[in-house]
Amino acid sequence: MAEYILESANGEKWEVICGLEIHCQIISKSKIFSSASTKFGEDANECVSFVDVAMPGMLPVLNMECVKQAVKTGLGLNAKINKYSQFSRKNYFYPDLPQGYQITQEKHPIIGEGKVFVDLSDGSVKEIGIERIHIEQDTGKSIHDIDPSRSFIDYNRAGVGLMEIVTKPDFRSPEEAGGFLRKLRSIVRYLGTCDGNMDEGSLRCDASVSIRKVGETGFRPRCEIKNVNSVKFAMQAIEAEAKRQLEIYENGGSFEQESRQFDPTTGTTKYMRKKEYAHEYRQFPDPDLPPLVLTDEFIEEVRNELVELPDAKKKRYVENMGLTAYDASVICENKEVAEFFEEASLGHDAKKVANWLMGDFFAMLNKKGVDIKNSPVSAKNLGKLVELISKDVISGKIAKDVFEIMVNTGDDPEKIVEEKGLKQVTDTSAIEAIVDEIIANNPDNVASYKAGKNNLLGWFVGQVMKQSQGKANPGVVNKLLKEKLD
Ligand code: MN
Repeated sequence: MAEYILESANGEKWEVICGLEIHCQIISKSKIFSSASTKFGEDANECVSFVDVAMPGMLPVLNMECVKQAVKTGLGLNAKINKYSQFSRKNYFYPDLPQGYQITQEKHPIIGEGKVFVDLSDGSVKEIGIERIHIEQDTGKSIHDIDPSRSFIDYNRAGVGLMEIVTKPDFRSPEEAGGFLRKLRSIVRYLGTCDGNMDEGSLRCDASVSIRKVGETGFRPRCEIKNVNSVKFAMQAIEAEAKRQLEIYENGGSFEQESRQFDPTTGTTKYMRKKEYAHEYRQFPDPDLPPLVLTDEFIEEVRNELVELPDAKKKRYVENMGLTAYDASVICENKEVAEFFEEASLGHDAKKVANWLMGDFFAMLNKKGVDIKNSPVSAKNLGKLVELISKDVISGKIAKDVFEIMVNTGDDPEKIVEEKGLKQVTDTSAIEAIVDEIIANNPDNVASYKAGKNNLLGWFVGQVMKQSQGKANPGVVNKLLKEKLD
C-alpha cells in the first residue's frame, strides 16, 4: 500500500495517526434495559417506557438479546469475549438523557481486543486492531428546527442498545479508515447485529486524528471529529483535519485536544467544544445492575449461529473459484451480492460470472437505480448467459445484446438466443462463403494487405462479422482469413 504522507511547506514529511470510535445500534426488537420497541421512524415518543424516561422507582432489566448480538459481533471481529463485564453510570446532564447518566461499561467491557482485515484498493490487506467493544444505551433526540422559540425531545431512541466499537490508533490514511468502515459495516450486516445504515444514524463514527513527523515516536494532541455519517465524509474529514493541524504546526502554533465537527459543504472541520476528560464523568458501577457473567455454553451457542463472513468467503472465492483478491473482496462486501454470485456461478465458470457481474451487470443496476434483490436479471439467467459464451454458442458481442433483452424482458437467455436466431455460426463452410465474398469484393485492400499492411486483417474480420450479423465465430473467421490472405 502506498504511504499517505503530508508534506509541509519546508519539505518535512508528516504522517497521520487516526483511531475510530463507532456506535452501532444493536438490532433487537426491544431496547437494552426496557421492553419498549426500537422501531425506526415511528411518531415521536411512541416507543417509550417509564424506564427510558427515568421515572422514579423504575429499574433497568438487561435484554439478553442485546448481549447475544454484542457477543456475536465480538466473535465476528475475532475478538476476546469477556465472561465478566460490568455496567457503570457515566454522569452528565443532557436534556435527551433524562436519567442524568448513561448506563455504559467502563472498566469491564463485554468484548476485549480483536482485529479486522481491511481490503485496500490495490488488493493488499491491512490489519486494524480493535481495542474493545462495550454495550450502552442510546440517548433521545433533541429537535431544534420545528419551532423558532422552543426545543422538543423525542425519546424513541432513548435506551436503544448500542455497541461502541473502539479501534486502536492504527489508521495511517483516510483510505484505510474508509476501508475499515466499509468492512465493519459489511461484517455487522452479515451477522445481522446492526443494519449499518450510516445515513439513518444506526452506525455513527467519531474519528480521532493527530499527525506527527515521520520518525517521531509518541503522539501529539489529537482532535476528535464527532458523528460523521458517511464513509466518504469520514475520509474527507480525516484528510481535512490532518491538513488543518499541519498548517497550525507550520505556523509555529499548537492546539489542545478538542471535539470538532465536519462540515461537508465546506469540506472543513470546525470547533465544537473542549474535549471532556474521562474523570469528569464520575463513573461508578451501576447499583441497579448486577455484573454480567457469561457461561461458555452461552458463548458457544452464539458461535454456532455465525454465518460465513466476508473474509472466509473471500478466501474461498480466491482459492476455489479462481477470483482475484480484489474481485473477491468487492463481491463479498455485500451479502446479497455474494449470494447472487454464488447462485449465478453454480456449475458455470465463476471467474467469467464475476467479470459479468462486476461489469455490465453492476452498470445496469446502477443505471436503473435498483439494488440486486430487485434485479430484472436473475442469478440463474446470468449464469446461463455466461454458459452460452463459454460453450461458444454466442460470442461476447452478441451476449451484450442478449443481456440487454434480458434486462428488458427478464427472459431466459437460451430462449432469447433460440427465438432471435442468434446462435454463433461455427460451421466453417458457411463462414468461408462470406470470407470469399469479402475478399472478392475488396481487391484494393487485399493488395494492400499483401503488400505488408498487416493491420488490415482487423478490418477484414470486422467486415465478415458485420456480414454475419455478429454470429460468425471470431476464431474461425480469423483462421480462415489468414489462410486465404497469407
Ligand atoms: Mn458511547
